[in-house]
Amino acid sequence: MAEGKINVSVENIFPLIKKFLYSDHEIFLRELVSNATDATLKLKHLTTIGEAKVDYGNPIIEIKVDKEGKKIHIIDQGIGMTEEEVEKYINQVAFSGAEEFLNKYEDGAKDSGIIGHFGLGFYSAFMVADKVEIITKSYTDAPAVHWSCDGSPNFTLKSAEKEDRGTEIILHVADDSTEFLEESRITELLNKYNKFMPIPIKFGMRTETLPKPKDAKEDDPAPTKEVDNIINNPNPAWTKQPADLKEEDYKGFYRELYPMQFEEPLFHIHLNVDYPFNLTGILYFPKLTNDLNVQKDRIQLYQNQVFVTDNVEGIVPEFLTMLRGVIDSPDIPLNVSRSYLQADGAVKKISSYITRKVADKLNSLFKNNREDFEAKWNDIKIVIEYGMLSEDKFFEKADKFALYPTVDGLYYTFDELQEKIKDNQTDKDDKLVILYASDKEAQHSYIEAAKTKGYEVLLLDSPIVSHLMQKLETSKEKISFARVDADHLDNLIKKEDTQISKLSDEEKEKLKADLEATISNKSYTVQLEAMDSDASPFIITEPEFMRRMKEMQQTGGGGMFGMGSMPEMYNLVVNTNHELVNEILNTKTAKKKERLINQSLDLARLSKGLLKGEELTNFIKRSYEMVK
Ligand code: ADP
Repeated sequence: MAEGKINVSVENIFPLIKKFLYSDHEIFLRELVSNATDATLKLKHLTTIGEAKVDYGNPIIEIKVDKEGKKIHIIDQGIGMTEEEVEKYINQVAFSGAEEFLNKYEDGAKDSGIIGHFGLGFYSAFMVADKVEIITKSYTDAPAVHWSCDGSPNFTLKSAEKEDRGTEIILHVADDSTEFLEESRITELLNKYNKFMPIPIKFGMRTETLPKPKDAKEDDPAPTKEVDNIINNPNPAWTKQPADLKEEDYKGFYRELYPMQFEEPLFHIHLNVDYPFNLTGILYFPKLTNDLNVQKDRIQLYQNQVFVTDNVEGIVPEFLTMLRGVIDSPDIPLNVSRSYLQADGAVKKISSYITRKVADKLNSLFKNNREDFEAKWNDIKIVIEYGMLSEDKFFEKADKFALYPTVDGLYYTFDELQEKIKDNQTDKDDKLVILYASDKEAQHSYIEAAKTKGYEVLLLDSPIVSHLMQKLETSKEKISFARVDADHLDNLIKKEDTQISKLSDEEKEKLKADLEATISNKSYTVQLEAMDSDASPFIITEPEFMRRMKEMQQTGGGGMFGMGSMPEMYNLVVNTNHELVNEILNTKTAKKKERLINQSLDLARLSKGLLKGEELTNFIKRSYEMVK
């Protein structure tokens, strides 16, 4: 038997491991199962190239929990280690690796944390165990060895009895970590971190029901058999070639990833690249609501089929974090902090590759089946609009397939829309005026009025659309958006047949004075306009600019801080050609005039949804008085 002192510069590394990684102790199992997987895959490689003259067979990795003995066993059938290898890899490599990691982690902890705490390796065992044993036999003829370390830098190394090749790690679980002796906790961890690892992982046994023999009677119970309980799928869909997968396989994998999701994904994107970086994965577009905060199932990041994290911030462009699925890449550095990650060249390339693939997929869906794309638009628009706002590269591509639906359910691309309205909806500066509604019900009367004039009205109702309009107005030439209830709508659009006012200038002045004297609310600016005699007498409009600023403030427009809240501002457009307006002008009794003005104003406010509370109650009361 040999004894020795592990050579580390930090006097006692174990308290440090515990202290720094306190919140993430559970990763020990991932690290040890990863080592077991590596050892098995190495053996596979050696047998394939003829280096190891042993039968590879069908190796598995087994996890056992001994609750009474307070032990966890991780057993593999991989290459194992000789005595010299234990000396080298465990006493030297693993320790120095742990030390290096801790040094980095100390810096990282001050930063924003290390992604998934990846790469601590073998020594993470000491986060949950106060003593660790390794019993290992190399695939070569070398005898088995038994290494043991009790959490100080002292270790012992002696020969062991083990017959089969492979390694068994025994953790003597510390008193503060007994949660890991619960079967349910281990199952949870294996499902979280090892669900798609490439070597079968056994945890306990399960009962399998076999088919009934042909001569069985009706109520004979079906025979059963005890079989290994394999918890992982060693060949997940993303590791296969797209050509080998059917639509059903993609849907099945989605259910495997998100067993609690009952809604099917809208479509998927298979990522597969090996130059200039390695990346595989499948992304899914789920049905998205307009509420950006409820999307909870997230993209999972793997490294060689080992789960790392479901926080892909910094790796996937932000607008795509609303998607679901898996990304697997050995080229993403994981023992660094997130802020470092954003500056990493490989990660930048990965991020723009993903953006490009998503744009290409959307483009081909649009081209190959426009009808289907239109049907899905409402469920995917939030991602596309967000992407157009935040990534210029994506904007360029999406501009060809982003859709602009009308209130009547037609879908135009921007180019198609431009073509459609170019003769009818230009203002005096030859700017195209794109009319839109954000709420079909609330803006009904305005929509109808615009449609009567032959204008096309879009329905743009996503929460970030005001930002997108701003972006389109600055990146395209000579266009502007105006909501159907915006001010100066009729000025914005060049009218062929300008109406002539039936009132003289003096009459107009008097009317304006009467209106201003009666209307005490200072949010309204009175404007006289000559319109069709059957257009509404009073119409309330809201300056497009002010309203949009208000909306953007609510959805967090950049650079809009410190502006305080915007005042309410409306225009009261009075149609000088309407009979009622004529009556207001010519009414002799002051009381009646006042009543007509107030009643008309309230009707206009009612139609814009501005009449509420006490004012609404008073209006209803007054109206009953008038009709009785
Ligand atoms: P890493 O896996 O990153 O190299 P570890 O600290 O996890 O670092 O392990 C150090 C070394 O110990 C490994 O590189 C490997 O050579 C050896 N080792 C660890 N676990 C096993 C195992 N289950 N079977 C064979 N060798 C192992």
